[in-house]
Amino acid sequence: MDWTELETMISAQVGDKFVVDDRRALGGGCINQAYHLTGSGQEYFVKINQASMIDMFEAEYEGLDAMYQSHSIRVPRPLLTGTIGSSAFVVMEYIPLQGSGDARAMGTLLAQMHGTLAEQFGWHRDNTIGATPQVNDWSASWVEFWRQQRIGQQTKLAAAKGIGRKAVHVFEQLAAHVDDFFSDYSPQPSLLHGDLWGGNASYDAKGEPVIFDPACYYGDREADLAMTELFSGFNSGFYAAYNEAWPLDAGYKTRKLLYNQYHILNHYNLFGGGYGSQAVHMAEQLLSTCR
Ligand code: ADP
Repeated sequence: MDWTELETMISAQVGDKFVVDDRRALGGGCINQAYHLTGSGQEYFVKINQASMIDMFEAEYEGLDAMYQSHSIRVPRPLLTGTIGSSAFVVMEYIPLQGSGDARAMGTLLAQMHGTLAEQFGWHRDNTIGATPQVNDWSASWVEFWRQQRIGQQTKLAAAKGIGRKAVHVFEQLAAHVDDFFSDYSPQPSLLHGDLWGGNASYDAKGEPVIFDPACYYGDREADLAMTELFSGFNSGFYAAYNEAWPLDAGYKTRKLLYNQYHILNHYNLFGGGYGSQAVHMAEQLLSTCR
């Protein structure tokens, strides 16, 4: 990575000379190398990968920007994305993070972000969920969106990875039955974080909530809530405050399994192993509630 070139690009973007005094590699990321840059009275958080990953960083930049523009929950303000030689990068505001803070505020502010609505479900571009491509073509129908662009896409990838015909059949059955879960519930297209597990939510130095590393699109807000429950990490204050701000429908209890099945199938596509049979089991559980 040509750090001098990055200094020049950051300087041009902020309209003030930026020279790095200190560059620290940070751990904790799943996919990219992360750095904390300090200098000229500024601090930045930079993620770096191969140049071929530029689309992923552009989508992250735009996702952070969409959440930032919602004026709700705190997110790192994105500054710049691009390539230098063989490296792709995204530069954003550096926020010192800590493990605990105002969980209730996280619930209230997430509900506020979900109040940012679009006309349709989807997004203006595709992005990635983990490293998996995530398709976000605009759709007037949430059922069709989930059927084709969520279950359908992950099923195609799982088939190519060799999950087997029986599993593919179960996923196709689930896709055919998606509308059963929406007989008396019509979600609105809310701005979603899209990858809201505990590792992507934290608190700033004042204890105010911060979310980052998104896979944004406009969809049913229950999908974000479901993912917070998938690997835990969010406490009862968070859920109580969310429900006070914007109560969840009773059917959420069933639909959260539908929404998390997507992430478990994605985990199969990323990591293989037991996630495949877990995704099948979840689909069978859901199908057992259908007519
Ligand atoms: P990856 O895309 O590789 O998964 P993340 O975006 O999750 O990387 O970032 C890795 C870690 O760096 C996070 O777990 C978090 O602790 C920290 N982090 C993320 N964004 C910021 C930021 N803007 N400022 C400071 N620390 C951050």
